[in-house]
Amino acid sequence: MIDKHNREINYLRISITDRCNLRCVYCMPKEGMSFIGHQDILRYEEMLRIVTVAVKTGITKVRVTGGEPLVRRGAIDFLSSLKKVEGLRDISLTTNGVLLEDCAEAIFDAGIRRINISLDSLVPERYGDITRGGDLGSVIGGIRKAYSTGFSPIKINVVAIQGFNDDEILDFARLTIDRPYQVRFIEFMPIGEAALDNDLGYLSNDEVMRRISGFAPMEPVVQTRRDRMDGPARLYTLEGAQGKIGFISAMSHGFCSSCNRLRLTADGHLRACLLADEPTVDLKAPLRDGCTDSELEALIRDLIGRKPDSYKTDCHQGHRRKCATNMSSIGG
Ligand code: SAM
Ligand code: SF4
Repeated sequence: MIDKHNREINYLRISITDRCNLRCVYCMPKEGMSFIGHQDILRYEEMLRIVTVAVKTGITKVRVTGGEPLVRRGAIDFLSSLKKVEGLRDISLTTNGVLLEDCAEAIFDAGIRRINISLDSLVPERYGDITRGGDLGSVIGGIRKAYSTGFSPIKINVVAIQGFNDDEILDFARLTIDRPYQVRFIEFMPIGEAALDNDLGYLSNDEVMRRISGFAPMEPVVQTRRDRMDGPARLYTLEGAQGKIGFISAMSHGFCSSCNRLRLTADGHLRACLLADEPTVDLKAPLRDGCTDSELEALIRDLIGRKPDSYKTDCHQGHRRKCATNMSSIGG
């Protein structure tokens, strides 16, 4: 469906759980998180029904995320059932990679080829600090396994934070030289409680680019229609590199004008915007009250109709606006 700002809304991100086996400093508070209760979390069959109806509104692409999607029992079977939804052309997964080494083959066998893995440091101790306890070795093992299993593309998401991991920018860029990884720098977004943490220093992607260019020239990649469908990353390569470097600059170069996304949270709310808690619509209550597919479709279409044209974020200018929901509950 085309929204009133002339954007084709064709992409749904589904957070299948708000739980996680890590506690990344920019995403979740150290403690005191309250999680969605068993009764309130959408069941897989409810998510599938929403997807099947959303396809009628023009959704062709789904990304499964979390929290950490691989901690929810049945996640791989869910991926497999998504593959059977007629009209879906593209299904992908975002994971922190901790459990990936053991289940990469099963995910591949479920038909998934596109995978994003989050990794913010290549130094074991620091990785442990950023994630509050994560084991870098397991994620590296997961990335290697994803590569040997045949996933493509493999995208490595890095949130660059001033004073935290910004001295590793070149090390991340170098990962693209020998392997066809797409390393993507994501600007820190002041969402949920992370927005209140003044220790998290914003770093613009212009600065990240400047630092990489000081190491070696980067050539812009001529983006295919598929690349553009893939999302808002601006892509570059280092000379002779197999992989690509991407920049996702939600804060400094907002991409609202081309936003094609809806987000389904694990408690059944459909969000129109990552950075704004409104508008949303609760789909779980009508689903459980026995609504028809047409009624569900009307709710989705109505939300698309209310999708805002843009959301002003200016945290980098010192005015930290935020949405109150933690990123782990929205799914990124
Ligand atoms: N647990 C999975 C993972 O870490 O990949 C999936 C969910 S996580 C919320 C999805 C993405 O959101 C990750 O790449 C993470 O780095 C990113 N993210 C979380 N909080 C963020 C923030 N405040 N600003 C920018 N990106 C953030
Ligand atoms: Fe968990 Fe992903 Fe959030 Fe880290 S970014 S706490 S891995 S949901």
